[in-house]
Amino acid sequence: MTWVIGPLCIDKMDTACVEVCPVDCIHRYTGNDPDIPKNQLLIDPAECIDCAACEPACPWQAIYQDTEVPEEFKEFVQVNARITEQTEIERTPKYDTPKPTPQEVAENREKWLAKYR
Ligand code: SF4
Ligand code: SF4
Repeated sequence: MTWVIGPLCIDKMDTACVEVCPVDCIHRYTGNDPDIPKNQLLIDPAECIDCAACEPACPWQAIYQDTEVPEEFKEFVQVNARITEQTEIERTPKYDTPKPTPQEVAENREKWLAKYR
């Protein structure tokens, strides 16, 4: 079992999940593969210990257990898995961005659901 970061993290990346992950398995891809986004964080399933600490820490509600990923975002299971093979990564990034309001969280979710529906 692993956890997956979906598109609700795109352009957010406040790294709240990184702060709580006990094994530092949340990374940002820095390479040039166009199929792996650089503007969101990804969980390495080979390193994740399934502790579930990251999910409640995410203010954008972008993290899911791999069995609970919404249908619209299923492709992100494979997108996250691809980070395992990558060497061009930023390990344990630390960014400081503002926390969202509930309205911003809801609008962001609707935006990405509409895109992947
Ligand atoms: S806490 Fe959520 S939005 Fe912030 S970097 Fe982690 S997955 Fe992305
Ligand atoms: S489930 Fe635990 S180990 Fe896996 S990414 Fe989240 S905080 Fe890290």
